[in-house]
Amino acid sequence: MAESYGGPKFSCDLRKQRPELGDDENRAAIQLLDCCKRFHSMGLAPEYDHATGKGTSGNYSFRTANGFLVTATPKHAASMTLDDLTLVTGGNLQANALAATGLKPPSSEALMHFAIYSAKPGAGAIVHWHDDQMLNNVPEGIVETEGEAPAGTVEFAKLAAKAASSISGTNGVIALKGHGFVAFGKDIDEAERAPLSFY
Ligand SMILES: [Zn+2]
Repeated sequence: MAESYGGPKFSCDLRKQRPELGDDENRAAIQLLDCCKRFHSMGLAPEYDHATGKGTSGNYSFRTANGFLVTATPKHAASMTLDDLTLVTGGNLQANALAATGLKPPSSEALMHFAIYSAKPGAGAIVHWHDDQMLNNVPEGIVETEGEAPAGTVEFAKLAAKAASSISGTNGVIALKGHGFVAFGKDIDEAERAPLSFY
């Protein structure tokens, strides 16, 4: 939310090359780019300034055979290509560390995606967006995190994963107190269905 962008707060062992994806994963990657652009055009992924230009907030991912593919940082929704998606291949939440393959580092909130996928084996895709107005008046039925923590930290990821675990089934929406929203589903269609129904 009000916090300014400072890049990832976790350590990342990044193999700087294009991730290898199967045919289905490539199709899903293109769908993920569309999803990212849609959220931006709806005003749910506003711009911010970073060292070399403007980026857009919000981050999106889906599970693959070897981990999950997530939007990279920095990126701008309007000009994103497949090169702006990075494959997270492993990690250790306690150690605040991820391993990834891609041309750019994974999203500064990739640790949260990692924690949710670990906590929810049935979750196949995650979308994260910012909506300060809705955050001030969280709709009924949305699970809220138990507390607040700075975005991108281990504590932030743990709060999100705990809230996700409290939801039974493969899909749900979480309010990240003081920050924004996360929706997960068995695939990208299911993950974005609930958020799109709000707007
Ligand atoms: Zn965020």
